[in-house]
Amino acid sequence: MSTIGIEKQTPSYTMADRFESKINEVMAFCPACKAFETVYLNNGKLNQNHKFTQFGNHIYHDCGSNTPCRLYMTT
Ligand SMILES: [Zn+2]
Repeated sequence: MSTIGIEKQTPSYTMADRFESKINEVMAFCPACKAFETVYLNNGKLNQNHKFTQFGNHIYHDCGSNTPCRLYMTT
């Protein structure tokens, strides 16, 4: 009788990983449509979000605005 080898996907954390994976909660304000929503930045990059898209150092709202959103820290 053989045992089924279940691979445990154990996340291998290191102190460096924890330190570097910094998630910031910020408010994004779209100057075009005045939308004001919470977005999350992971290490300074936009987390996957269906309403906002990151280009370079700016985040654009999906309303078609050519003006980047303003970001406000919530903390
Ligand atoms: Zn917008």
